[in-house]
Amino acid sequence: MTSATIEIPARKGKATHVGLGQLVKVINTHGEQVVDMWAFSADDLREYMSMEHSRLHLLKLRPEVGDTLITNRRRSILTLVEDTSPGVHDTVLAACDARRYELLGVEEYHDNCSDNLANGMGDLGLEMTEEPSSFNLFMNIPWTEDGGLTLAEPVTKPGDYVVFRAETDVVVAFSACPQDILPINGRARHPTEAHFQVQAAP
Ligand SMILES: [Zn+2]
Repeated sequence: MTSATIEIPARKGKATHVGLGQLVKVINTHGEQVVDMWAFSADDLREYMSMEHSRLHLLKLRPEVGDTLITNRRRSILTLVEDTSPGVHDTVLAACDARRYELLGVEEYHDNCSDNLANGMGDLGLEMTEEPSSFNLFMNIPWTEDGGLTLAEPVTKPGDYVVFRAETDVVVAFSACPQDILPINGRARHPTEAHFQVQAAP
């Protein structure tokens, strides 16, 4: 059974429970929206999906279909089971936060993925003790042979989606990245909403 399609509002965050074996589908509704994603063990929020541990486990900068991401305690947490996008995601860069926008010259409060994570978790009555690094879905950060990185526009199209299977009971959080200073969410610099669904184990 598929749950309702739930909106991750433009520039905001949302979190959800996903049970062991259930699937969570993340939809790039308008095609150029980066969605930062985090996953926590439902039993203990101090255990969470870790990009640095997963990169070592997979020996990859980008997980591909069939790959299992692991936690900071090196246990399986989510498996990427489907990806209709070109597979360009980022595991390297930190989520945006208030200070990031300050450094980009924004003077007023700017929505940011870090606060969106805390707010999404807060809506479920959950409070984290640490903020893990994010898995930046659909974010295009090409690298060069000598290790240089570029902040590029997404290469996804409307309706592209990824599906993860939960390998334990998890809380998954999303942020529709509000970056509108740089073209991370497309040349128009216009952050949009995205969507997700939680599906029963097949
Ligand atoms: Zn962001």
